[in-house]
Amino acid sequence: MVKLDGKVAVITGASSGIGEATAEALAAEGAAVVVAARREDRLVDLVGRIEGNGGRALAAVCDVTDESQAHGLIRKAQETFGSVDILVNNAGVMLLSAVGKGLSDEWRRMFDVNVMGLLYATDAAIDAMKRQQSGHLVNISSVAGRKVSRTSSGVYAGTKHAVGAISEGLRQELLEDNIRVTIVEPGAVATELPDHITDEDAREGLGGLLQLEILQAEDIANAILYAVTQPPRVSVNEILIRPTQQPV
Ligand code: NAD
Repeated sequence: MVKLDGKVAVITGASSGIGEATAEALAAEGAAVVVAARREDRLVDLVGRIEGNGGRALAAVCDVTDESQAHGLIRKAQETFGSVDILVNNAGVMLLSAVGKGLSDEWRRMFDVNVMGLLYATDAAIDAMKRQQSGHLVNISSVAGRKVSRTSSGVYAGTKHAVGAISEGLRQELLEDNIRVTIVEPGAVATELPDHITDEDAREGLGGLLQLEILQAEDIANAILYAVTQPPRVSVNEILIRPTQQPV
């Protein structure tokens, strides 16, 4: 039997990168997956691939920074597949820059997506998970959630430190309801995440790191799969994964 048979997983930011790979990995293990993001065409392609491989999937257009859309996403998952067992809070933006360049719109965007978006979806999922007295929240942080460096920039690191603190709080608040919480902290992964950086200095600062043999989205998906397929007594709290050659 596949390990996630009968489980329903919601994955935010599933239109590319780690989210997309995670949806494919969880679906291959038997989970029904609800793939959420803003780009509908990408989601429809992904659903087609998963269904083509015999899996079950639903595309849900959702901007996680809109609280009502985030709640609607969880409702849609319950209505379509009957429950929400796993929520992967993966949607994120990394608009690196030093403070002092007036890029407050970008700081706001990062806090809105990386922190508030995670909270809105989590808030809605907890309600469902408490009723079923089980669930698993997987929050995608970063090495920048553990360590602040000039390369990752303080504001992005601040959003990911917030993800770490919120996740540990959730773990303690939810353990009596059998809801597990896992923080995943990747180092550099080959995705489109850095493409949206507007600050040239920050982009240059990343250059050296991106020359290394960095991780693939599937490497992080495999770690998430490990965390969500452990027996109910096992709570994998934190997974930090760097490319072998990444120094910091
Ligand atoms: P990515 O850009 O491919 O994926 C991010 C996804 O989030 C995209 O699908 C994007 O459309 C979606 N998204 C952004 N804003 C959204 C919103 N408002 N509503 C819904 N979806 C939204 O990059 P990725 O590397 O796969 O990033 C996934 C997560 O991994 C992020 O949280 C990121 O911070 C984290 N991360 C990535 C790296 C890396 O090196 N790539 C390292 C550490 C952590």
